[in-house]
Order: sequence, then C-alpha cells, then structure tokens
Amino acid sequence: MSFECTKCRYKIQKDKIPRRCPYCSAEGAVRKIPTAQDWIDELE
Ligand SMILES: [Zn+2]
Repeated sequence: MSFECTKCRYKIQKDKIPRRCPYCSAEGAVRKIPTAQDWIDELE
C-alpha cells in the first residue's frame, strides 16, 4: 500500500499505515493514497 505524509508530501510504501512520518516525524499526518483498486471497491 502507498501512504503519503500530508505535511511534507513524503511517500511511504508499507503494509500498514505508519503512525508517524519517517521523514518529518509528524504524528497522524500520514494518509493512505487511494489506488485504482480502491475506486473499484467503492463502486461495488
Ligand atoms: Zn512528513
């Protein structure tokens, strides 16, 4: 899965959402980046 820090825009590839950004250490700023599969799942 892909995640992005909303504070510094740093991109993270991990299985689970990180609690804090490994780049700027901002807590709770990391959000999941929606993938094409997520859009398909929402439509069903
Ligand atoms: Zn960050």
